[in-house]
Amino acid sequence: MVLKGKSVFGGIAIGRLAVYKKKDTQVKRIKIADKKAEIERFVSARETAKEQLARLYEKALKEVGEVNAMIFEVHQMMLDDMDYNESISNMIQTQEVNAEFAVASASDNFSKMFAAMEDEYMKERAADVKDISNRVISILQGTVDGTAIGEEPVILLADDLAPSETVQLDKSKVLSFVTQYGSTNSHTAILARTMNIPALIGIDLNNADEMNGKWGIVDGYHGTLYVDPDIETLSKYEKMKEEEEHKKRLLLELKGKENVTLDGRKIHLYANIGSVADVANVLANDADGIGLFRSEFLYLESQNYPTEEAQFAAYKTVAENMAGKKVIIRTLDIGADKQVDYFDMEKEENPAMGYRAIRICLDRKEIFKTQLRAIYRASYYGTISIMFPMIISVKEVKQIKEMIAEVKAELDEEGLPYKDVETGIMIETPAAVLISDLLAKEVDFFSIGTNDLTQYTLAIDRQNPKLDDIYDAHHEAILRMLKIVVDNGHKEGCWVGICGELGADTTLTETFLKMGFDELSVSPSMVLKVRDKIRNLNLSERDV
Ligand code: PEP
Ligand code: MG
Repeated sequence: MVLKGKSVFGGIAIGRLAVYKKKDTQVKRIKIADKKAEIERFVSARETAKEQLARLYEKALKEVGEVNAMIFEVHQMMLDDMDYNESISNMIQTQEVNAEFAVASASDNFSKMFAAMEDEYMKERAADVKDISNRVISILQGTVDGTAIGEEPVILLADDLAPSETVQLDKSKVLSFVTQYGSTNSHTAILARTMNIPALIGIDLNNADEMNGKWGIVDGYHGTLYVDPDIETLSKYEKMKEEEEHKKRLLLELKGKENVTLDGRKIHLYANIGSVADVANVLANDADGIGLFRSEFLYLESQNYPTEEAQFAAYKTVAENMAGKKVIIRTLDIGADKQVDYFDMEKEENPAMGYRAIRICLDRKEIFKTQLRAIYRASYYGTISIMFPMIISVKEVKQIKEMIAEVKAELDEEGLPYKDVETGIMIETPAAVLISDLLAKEVDFFSIGTNDLTQYTLAIDRQNPKLDDIYDAHHEAILRMLKIVVDNGHKEGCWVGICGELGADTTLTETFLKMGFDELSVSPSMVLKVRDKIRNLNLSERDV
């Protein structure tokens, strides 16, 4: 079977297809005949879950340190809890129900029991019981539920994936993302670029269940998914994949080389990350620094507000691993497509224009302060800069500065070391573009978020697949805005960069350099491609 869709990142993937089931998939109650066999099914799924958790613990230990990895140890212990296990086997025994249903019921009962407890620590365990139970259920169902991919890497098929779901995935087990919905600028697409794997959207997955477990090929150059391909197609794509690997190896030869044009113009080329683990990709692709650390993914990964210590550990690890290279941390940018349950936000008619990003931070100051303290404390261990998303006014920047002053005063009082951190703002609203002359007086740098700037300028929801074809980041209005921002920034001594997806568009690299940009921050997988482009340009040949 051959299915056509739209590619959001090129490349070839060959592997088994696995259907991603949403976590809230209803578990059906089924009457079973062989109770003993059903209990064995449960025990075997539980043991698989424990093995997965042990591996996740080891991975997290290396990537985010012991404090953050602990949760996976706690989960393993919870799976051994006698009351929990007995309640499941008793239910299978006495009510003759399937293991999935018994686990889901135990999950409900135990999480309600924890949620009703007085002790804050015990209350939090409610979410953990649900988490471990969902893991066991998805193993029983043989589907991927975000936390439970098997050993073999797969091509993941899903209706759509929310950022809160992608953060849970064991990314080393994903060869490609294929979704029915989603758009070019959705965060799944951005993730695919970070991971350097092909991704397709707009593929008809109404019969996805029939595809589960079959072989598939993703052709990210032509937006095609092959299900159960014949030998001829398979060998054709295996050959293409080999050629692709060869090209990648050639690009690797650019490692260690400068980002300089033939006529000597230099530019900083940084990479965007969403998690501590992505630093490995940044280093492997030899970026000069991190131009955008989407810190909200730390919040999306947690079941509750990440503590100052947990955030400090993450930022410090990134700063240390980057060994003195610049790391720009973007403060919490949730709302719109990035929803976090425990923030308990009201449903909005128009979330992209709603309560999000800096608006939340300046309203719920305790959350913001925790993050600022963690960032400033981590600054001592490397070269950290900080930037703020969704700015629309000078007033916001002034309020932020007041909070930074408070945080610094607290740290001084507590004798905690920090460095003076370069501060900048994201320019991702037309308002910020038009007052960039005023904003430039307040900060050290600008980084243009072209994903949102395009959405707000063209009045096109970046998440809406129907509008993907007219979401045009090359629109003259956007290009003019970029120029306004560079000029206004430079007049006040600010450096100016781009961290939206447009920064990696090599058809515009020359334009960006001629406009005077100082920095481009792109997905790690794009760093060497953009470097290659820069090194082949001669700006003195033609004028813009
Ligand atoms: C942007 O809007 O261009 C940006 C870089 O931020 P995000 O994609 O995380 O909204
Ligand atoms: Mg943005």
